[in-house]
Amino acid sequence: MSLIDRQGRKINYLRLSVTDRCNLRCRYCMPQQGVTDIGHDSLLRFEDLYRIARSAVAIGVRKIRITGGEPLVRKGISGFLRHLSGIAGLDQLVLTTNGVLLAEMAAELRDAGVQRLNVSLDSLDADTFSFITRGGSLKRVLNGIETARSCGFPIKLNMVVMRGVNDHEIPAFVRLAADSASTVRFIEYMPAIRENGWQRLVVPGREILARLERDFRLLPLEQARLAGPARNFRISGISGTVGIITPISEHFCQECNRIRVTSTGQAKGCLFDETCIDLKPALQADENNFQLIRILRSIIAVKPAGHLMNPAECHHQAFSMASIGG
Ligand code: SAM
Ligand code: SF4
Repeated sequence: MSLIDRQGRKINYLRLSVTDRCNLRCRYCMPQQGVTDIGHDSLLRFEDLYRIARSAVAIGVRKIRITGGEPLVRKGISGFLRHLSGIAGLDQLVLTTNGVLLAEMAAELRDAGVQRLNVSLDSLDADTFSFITRGGSLKRVLNGIETARSCGFPIKLNMVVMRGVNDHEIPAFVRLAADSASTVRFIEYMPAIRENGWQRLVVPGREILARLERDFRLLPLEQARLAGPARNFRISGISGTVGIITPISEHFCQECNRIRVTSTGQAKGCLFDETCIDLKPALQADENNFQLIRILRSIIAVKPAGHLMNPAECHHQAFSMASIGG
């Protein structure tokens, strides 16, 4: 079964957030004091998250990305993932993490059926990393990445590029991709929390590419099946690959294949659209998931054609990316 929205986009990708809590406090994502405590009752139980995942697969979703907050801080996550990976019709179960707990957990994640990991890593300098994450340990994350690799995980590294903070490290990340034969994606900084002066932090994707092209010859790669919004490149003479993700300067809304569900059960068609539908009443009401399926379809029906953000202005209400899952 495939799910096509009003714009003709095939929707086959669910980003499912399992918590809004985190063991880091990245400046671009959440305030120093963390997210407001939503209380235990508001957070969906694993049984409910599983029902949502099954219902999404029943209507055409083929890829689920587990996200947060930091998904690995939620107790019982590996058992939940093992359960999810058994859903018939689900082709890809992948997870995004900050890597802090990977050294301890990579083996159990692999064993639970997670196929790939995206690890967020914004700096290769210990002080800058600690500054961006408000106290995180770079060494710990690098150890986690190494352990995950040795467990057999394909890994993509995601770097949020911020002018004057870490943009001088772009070449170092390319070298890392080359040395470890891995993929690094450069993501435009998004003004989710709308802090003053956010515009100066954005390095447009075109500029990132131009800077890369000074030192490397980029060869465009075909989009993989069920891929997200990255434009990927091989680098001549080097084994790793790089990608750019440009939510601000070059919108990819016309190819957007995703829906989102937050850890409190809010279904959303677009990160920057305030429209959301609460799945909790449907979770309480019907055992057979009919209502759940109906509501998931309805969020696809109201998925906007695009968002209006650009390098100069944004229109959304401020939000913590950790509450939605990025
Ligand atoms: N805690 C996990 C992590 O950091 O990978 C998963 C959740 S995090 C909200 C998901 C992704 O959103 C991360 O790659 C993070 O870098 C990205 N993100 C958060 N805030 C962002 C912002 N303001 N601009 C661009 N990316 C952002
Ligand atoms: Fe936590 Fe990820 Fe947000 Fe950083 S980006 S504060 S690691 S949820």
